[in-house]
Amino acid sequence: MLADLQHGPHIAADSVVLKAVLLVQPVKRNNMNAKQKTQQIKLGTLASGFDLTIPILIAEGITPNPIVGISAAVHGDEIVGVQILRELWSLLAREQIQGSVWLMPVVNPLAFEYLTRNTPLDMLDINRTFPGNASGWISEQMAHAISEQYLSRLDYYIDIHAGGTFPLVDYCFLLNNGDFARAFHSKLLYTPAQPYQGTTASVTLKRNVPTVVIEIGGGYEQQEEQVKRGVSKICNMLRYAGVLGGAVEAPPSQTLLREISIMRPKNGGLCYPVRPFPPGEHLMGRVKLAEVVSPYSFESLETMETPFEKNVVVLSRNYVTRVNPGDYTFMIGNLATAETL
Ligand SMILES: [Zn+2]
Repeated sequence: MLADLQHGPHIAADSVVLKAVLLVQPVKRNNMNAKQKTQQIKLGTLASGFDLTIPILIAEGITPNPIVGISAAVHGDEIVGVQILRELWSLLAREQIQGSVWLMPVVNPLAFEYLTRNTPLDMLDINRTFPGNASGWISEQMAHAISEQYLSRLDYYIDIHAGGTFPLVDYCFLLNNGDFARAFHSKLLYTPAQPYQGTTASVTLKRNVPTVVIEIGGGYEQQEEQVKRGVSKICNMLRYAGVLGGAVEAPPSQTLLREISIMRPKNGGLCYPVRPFPPGEHLMGRVKLAEVVSPYSFESLETMETPFEKNVVVLSRNYVTRVNPGDYTFMIGNLATAETL
């Protein structure tokens, strides 16, 4: 009824009826749930003949702005973020929102297809190639299109990562907006001395767009807790951005890390953790974390230990896994240089 009156060509611009409709319009539209639609970023055709497209799912409220972008699976073996966005998408369908939420559930579909961190076609980590190159490798072409058609449109940006195929992780990068990052309620926050170059976040940071990179879950264990918490705390971030109504829940006490040691073994084989080390656990002094064992002779090739006097587990492997030399095996934060917020 309202739509007919608005769009009907028979209504003259100065008619009394139209003025009445315009007056009631904001009230009516405030009661509408988010409209949902899909857009495609189109790249070329693959050698297989299939078209390469990257979908964007858009939930739009009463006004199109602000636009909050949330992406996942920029690394193809990090599937928890996709699960979080699936739940969030169905939740947004039932909500009234201000502005828009633009979800990109799979930033790198080629890597997701093979469940690999890097793009199988050119072996590149797309998250080191942004803002990309329209005439470069396929990862660079994708990064260029995503930068132009997605990242450059956003007013807020959240990128969800995970530990990958085997490790479990739990922290959040505090980059250019502390309140936005803290609204995710991660117990561990991290501000690196040097931010990673070539990431999706590097594009939005350059534009001074509030940007948060979340690291949550990973490994093919049950992730129900992480998915539930991810959805709930991203809703808190959407309240901070003014997209969802209601008060922002205050964060708990959080530890801001300045130094994290990425522990990569020198030898490949089977990695036997001493026991599960949940992210967030404090470990004092030198503590043995794991043994790397040869699968050919069963001899121990290497012992991995905590690197600091006061350690906190950031990423861990909680069951026996295959490791290659240089793999992310543990990440340990230094509590001596950390700050309690
Ligand atoms: Zn990642």
